Amino acid sequence: MPLSETSASLTTTGREPSANKLPFPDVDLMHIWQLLEPGERTRLRGIRAFLQDRVRPESLDYWNREEFPHHLLREMAEYGLGGIELEDSSELFKGLVYVEAARADVSLSALIGIHNELIVGMIQELGSTQQKARWLPALARFTALGSFALTEPDHGSDIAGGLSTTATREGDEWVISGAKRWIGAASMADFSLVWARDTTDNEIKAFIVESDRPGFTTTKICNKIGLRIMQNADIKLDSVRVPESNRLPGARTFAAANELLKHSRAWVGWQAAGVQLGIFDIARDYALARTQFGSPIAGFQLVQLPLAEILGNAMASLSLMADVARIQETGQLEMVQAAMAKSTTTRLARESAAKGRALMGGNGVTSDYEMAKLFGDVEILYTYEGTYEINSLIVGRAVTGHSAFVNPH
Ligand SMILES: Cc1cc2nc3c(=O)[nH]c(=O)nc-3n(C[C@H](O)[C@H](O)[C@H](O)COP(=O)(O)OP(=O)(O)OC[C@H]3O[C@@H](n4cnc5c(N)ncnc54)[C@H](O)[C@@H]3O)c2cc1C
Repeated sequence: MPLSETSASLTTTGREPSANKLPFPDVDLMHIWQLLEPGERTRLRGIRAFLQDRVRPESLDYWNREEFPHHLLREMAEYGLGGIELEDSSELFKGLVYVEAARADVSLSALIGIHNELIVGMIQELGSTQQKARWLPALARFTALGSFALTEPDHGSDIAGGLSTTATREGDEWVISGAKRWIGAASMADFSLVWARDTTDNEIKAFIVESDRPGFTTTKICNKIGLRIMQNADIKLDSVRVPESNRLPGARTFAAANELLKHSRAWVGWQAAGVQLGIFDIARDYALARTQFGSPIAGFQLVQLPLAEILGNAMASLSLMADVARIQETGQLEMVQAAMAKSTTTRLARESAAKGRALMGGNGVTSDYEMAKLFGDVEILYTYEGTYEINSLIVGRAVTGHSAFVNPH
């Protein structure tokens, strides 16, 4: 039963409830969806139905083959998923869209989130009028894709101080040299937003580097244990020339990157909440369908325990993120809150995935079933956008006034 026939009946999507109606089909025990105004709630139901009906069923096969379902981009755009960041909708709505995306498939939710938070958001916030006009309409329709190229082979956690890709001004052009690692969608994107150190003033700046520029090459990273649909790549920049008009005027120091990372860390918190709803959906369906000792395993005490634990973790994550949205709405989100939300929800997601995997016995260890896919995917949430440890150190520094990033001796 890789994709359950008894999958959540989704009564709020407008679909017919199934004959065996599940209690709490939407798993909204804390009434978070009810906080949305009616128009946003209706729209979210449509998005959920699309993600559950179209994206989720196809994703397992693509995940196993490490391939990207390009044909889904057009449909995702029809639901507005390419331009969430350009809308005037509430922070809670945006967050719950990310939840529903991760609930259906974590890799595609990563594409949607990075696209909105770090590509569309970056050009919108830091780009020139000309750059916005050139790229934003196509990005919103998913007819263009970008990638966010910050991490390097030798600099991950220490990228702020260590970034070594260089940009040298020559007349009306910049010459960019260096390497980037792990860059999501880089091998299929039209351009990358490349962060590089200006060799004149030593500050970190950002440039739009179109993928067909001479000297720009990508190599797909294979054999990942999670997020296998997302095409991550190594990038080589060998004296790549871009015009001055490709420099993002708002990105003059690393502080600009940090501001973006604050919101994208919060986005990972939504992903972590969403994946746990997916873990719960799958675990509950499986427990109801699987029979041992003559009864559905859902009736055994030691199977109900992990179900209750996964649900509790998911609701704690979701409620925390709803509070993050409340703070975002007032424009007061700080890095400490984003880092705390990211580290806490991903820690819980990892625990939930382990419990879900165990609940499915042997069928939990093969990616012929969805649970093993999520078990791998949560490892990526735990590590990207700043590892669990680095986000914990950000929180530790904020609440003690002591930075513990560098070993004191
Ligand atoms: C699937 C995937 C997708 C990604 N997508 C992108 C992308 O699109 N764009 C992009 O720019 N980047 C991307 N990243 C990069 C990601 O943000 C980095 O992997 C992450 O920041 C960690 O860096 P690192 O892998 O170099 O690990 P390292 O920095 O080498 O860390 C190794 C270990 O050391 C620990 N550590 C390091 N410093 C300290 C310290 N001071 N104290 C305590 N512990 C420490 C870390 O917590 C970790 O456990 C992606 C990564 C992955 C795996």
